[in-house]
Amino acid sequence: MSSSTNSFKTDDTPAIKKVVIVGGGTAGWMTAAGLCSVLAPLNLDITLVESEAIGTVGVGEATLPHIRFFNRKLGIDENALMKATKATYKLGIEFRDWGKIGDSYIHPFGDFGFPINRCGFHHYLSRAHKMGLPSHLDQYSVPVMAARNAKFQPPHSDTENVLSTFGYAYQFDAGLYANFLRKFCENRGVTRIEGRINEVSQNKESGEIECVILENGESLTGDFFVDCSGFRGLLISQTLNVPYRNWTEHLPCDRAVVAACSAAGPELPYTRATAKSSGWQWRIPLQHRVGNGYVYCSEFISDQEAERSMLGDLEAPPNSEPKRLRFTTGQRQKSWVKNCVAIGLSGGFLEPLESTGIYLIQEAITNLIEMFPTQTSYDVDRKEYNRLMDIEFERVRDFLLLHYVATTRSDSPFWRHLTSMDLPASLKHKMDLFKSTGRVVSYEIGAFKKPSWLSVYFGQNIIPKGVDPLSLHMPDSVLPEQLNSVAKTVSNAVALMSGHGAYIDQECRAE
Ligand code: FAD
Repeated sequence: MSSSTNSFKTDDTPAIKKVVIVGGGTAGWMTAAGLCSVLAPLNLDITLVESEAIGTVGVGEATLPHIRFFNRKLGIDENALMKATKATYKLGIEFRDWGKIGDSYIHPFGDFGFPINRCGFHHYLSRAHKMGLPSHLDQYSVPVMAARNAKFQPPHSDTENVLSTFGYAYQFDAGLYANFLRKFCENRGVTRIEGRINEVSQNKESGEIECVILENGESLTGDFFVDCSGFRGLLISQTLNVPYRNWTEHLPCDRAVVAACSAAGPELPYTRATAKSSGWQWRIPLQHRVGNGYVYCSEFISDQEAERSMLGDLEAPPNSEPKRLRFTTGQRQKSWVKNCVAIGLSGGFLEPLESTGIYLIQEAITNLIEMFPTQTSYDVDRKEYNRLMDIEFERVRDFLLLHYVATTRSDSPFWRHLTSMDLPASLKHKMDLFKSTGRVVSYEIGAFKKPSWLSVYFGQNIIPKGVDPLSLHMPDSVLPEQLNSVAKTVSNAVALMSGHGAYIDQECRAE
């Protein structure tokens, strides 16, 4: 047999049979679920190790609409998941006090208005602004008006219907989501091992990971390892020494203090992010509690002061002791190195302003599944995976940063620091383009497409100088009437929607 035939045969043999996932937080169980279901035809032997004594990070309640596609791919029934995780529906995020104190806007999962004469709706709104007409985006968006009125029902399937112009996500208990996925995985043959890993053994020549060794001496070998061990990065950092790209220079918040409380009013179908003197505070309503957390920059406020401020802004007394967390915003320089890929907090963390933690986990799993090695040598798969993750992280970083710099706030050292810092070139270009022409650098895939950027620009009072010339076909005299008619269509449609609480009662209220 010639050597070329031999190498063809070798390359054609499935490279990976045995996968070891280190960590059973949201990242670990989502990865196990993705691999055991989508890659079921490969008959992988999947083992997940987690340590109850170490525990999970225990935060992460708000999601992006992409999670629905992930769950759907796995064949998970939405109502069963909502019940099991005590979830509410999420139509977007309300940002309070960001552009300036007193402002409020919602970044929705959906469109604003409709293109008129093939020209984006927001160009007409820019014109309205210049004419001194009311130009807040809210009234032209179904999900925003539904959120403001505590309404919810799934989008209409007829794309001609204005009630089809939005998406939605969940606000859920991420711990319960991990439990739900654990059952899903165990039913599909994933082995769970409880125990603390004390040692990691590498091949002396290649440096590839060969096995992890537990406290009780048990050793788990694998062809491929997924590091879902959280911030500590047991494999990717502590074993493979892959450096971390620290983005605190751009996104300086590095701590959070969190506590849950009871809801003082009806369940709202949106998350709230209120800007504060040294960071911002979230409010995430679930069926059984409201999650709250102050994300702050330790350079500008002490832990004690941040905790007092967070507790002072709760709508009801906390249900548990406040919990403090530390983090460094950034990304692993390469999340896939040798035979190990880092997914979740071990691969990087961007602060939770736009609920991107679980989204980035999902993107990592999707990319891993697409690049899953089919040959014994997989340099190109690895390279492509790392390239895709870099794009994703950078895009999210720029979008988060936009919220901090599109502001006129200068009322505290934190805000003065943010508004005086240099921007990454990629964001500077996006903002320059919008400010002068009203055009948005938009992406075909991934999160945060055009409406997301528009909501922050307009919501934080950045109105472009120029407009698309196509919008000029409409005379000034008819513009107000046109805008009113769109607002009316939206409000009439929203009036027909169910109440959010009533919809949960009907479909998925936990017992
Ligand atoms: P972890 O939850 O830390 O899990 C690590 C796992 O590794 C655990 O099971 C642990 O037992 C195991 N482990 C570690 N070391 C060992 C060892 N030696 N031996 C055995 N097992 C080990 N994301 C969102 O999408 N929405 C949000 O609203 C949101 N809010 C957030 C707020 C804050 C303040 C923070 C910090 C994060 C937030 N996130 C949010 C991100 C989200 O929490 C995480 O992305 C998600 O929980 C995934 O965590 P993980 O599974 O990577 O790590």
